[in-house]
Amino acid sequence: MSWNGEDAPGEERILIALGGNAMTAPDGSAAPDAQAAAIEAAMGPVADLVAAGARVALTHGNGPQVGNLLIKNQLAAGVVPPVPLDWCGAQTQATIGMTIMNALERALAQRGAARSVSTVVTRTLVDAADPAFADPAKPIGRYFPEGDARRAMARGETWRRFGDRGWRRVVASPEPLEILDAGAAATLLDAGHVVVAAGGGGAPVARVDGTLRGVEAVVDKDLAAQLLARGLGATVLVIATDVEYAMVGYGTPQARPLHRTTVAELGELAAAGHFADGSMGPKVEAVRRFVAGGGRRAVIASLARIGDAAHGACGTVVEA
Ligand code: ADP
Ligand code: MG
Repeated sequence: MSWNGEDAPGEERILIALGGNAMTAPDGSAAPDAQAAAIEAAMGPVADLVAAGARVALTHGNGPQVGNLLIKNQLAAGVVPPVPLDWCGAQTQATIGMTIMNALERALAQRGAARSVSTVVTRTLVDAADPAFADPAKPIGRYFPEGDARRAMARGETWRRFGDRGWRRVVASPEPLEILDAGAAATLLDAGHVVVAAGGGGAPVARVDGTLRGVEAVVDKDLAAQLLARGLGATVLVIATDVEYAMVGYGTPQARPLHRTTVAELGELAAAGHFADGSMGPKVEAVRRFVAGGGRRAVIASLARIGDAAHGACGTVVEA
């Protein structure tokens, strides 16, 4: 892979957001071995980019991992007090972060580009008055039978029936306002570390009476990623997922990939409903916001092609 003249390697700061396929088996399994194997495979292209001279920060999703912790909460509730969602988020940042550290340091050493990889336990500020809290809509964890849902609702949780598949807990997904630990992540990046931050969108906190408190919510990892990218002074944002492009007319016979696009065109296509809520929608909104907010390039691309994506050579590319 070669850099074009404008992208002097040492100057490029790239934030890569890793989707679920970087951390779970193709069937969605989040068993520890499956997570480690998926991360190991994902770190090859990341290591290539770092070895070529880019300063790289990573963020990642955590849906299946938090789902597993919620099941432990539920099964053990009579024995060990359930832990809140912000704790689940912090725990998954630690376990996924450490697994990335092991795999990426090894991949870098194999390329003769040894470097420290560090993880920052990251809090994301949200507004306690965000309208999302009045209407929790983000499903988390697995489907459960009605009886389990009723017991959880008696404990104060919100659950919703999803047709024949059963019931799922729903929580608020408020707008991320600030990545509170972006400064610490930037310091590590400046010092030459590869840094992992804002995993799972960051552990959500709100300011209540001047104090930061964890809240029962999840922050979208793609929306958090674009805020983190700006907080790190990144010029390029890559959202790595399990498809090659954002598609227009997805799932229809007229489906076509979006190659190069603009902030304005993305806004129009999103308003016309081309990108599903909770999957492609937030990715498109994240790349749109990043470039609208002064970022140079944002790309939605497949995990295997992170390096080409960073150069705008594949995927759905938005440039200033
Ligand atoms: P990640 O774990 O990487 O965040 P998601 O499952 O949240 O991945 O989002 C990627 C998925 O979005 C794709 O696998 C695809 O099924 C879905 N999707 C929804 N709308 C579109 C679209 N317009 N173009 C491409 N993929 C789409
Ligand atoms: Mg997603």
